[in-house]
Amino acid sequence: MSRDDGDGKYVLTNRYTGEKTMVEVDPDKTDLYADRSMIEGFPDACPFLRFRTPDGKACCTVHLTRPEMCRDFGCWRLLILKQDGSRAGRVMGRSHFCPDDPELARLWEEQIRDIEEPGDDAWDRAVITILTGIGYSVQK
Ligand code: SF4
Repeated sequence: MSRDDGDGKYVLTNRYTGEKTMVEVDPDKTDLYADRSMIEGFPDACPFLRFRTPDGKACCTVHLTRPEMCRDFGCWRLLILKQDGSRAGRVMGRSHFCPDDPELARLWEEQIRDIEEPGDDAWDRAVITILTGIGYSVQK
């Protein structure tokens, strides 16, 4: 991500495809975007993610201009794809799992839900090892 010139515009580079997208903080979310305190506990979170108060729901502060990948796949920390490239599920926040594939939902309950690791990176590694071992691909 690179800052344009202080006017709330950024150029994002997709690290997988190299595609560049200009995004701009939504006019009604500039105060929300300026408050980084709510994502301090999530070092791997997208820099545009914030949590609304008081409901605590996740919010994209560049929703109106968000990149194509976000439009296609939604907001995620881990994106889990089937072998044909279709979405099987996403992990948002720390470890909140949103399944798209019933088979993955079942596997998650059986093999992943109760994993406890000291820290997000270790948890990610453990989950990615399991998922790639059974044929999914995972983007982080
Ligand atoms: S949709 Fe999510 S990942 Fe995409 S820019 Fe918004 S907060 Fe970031």
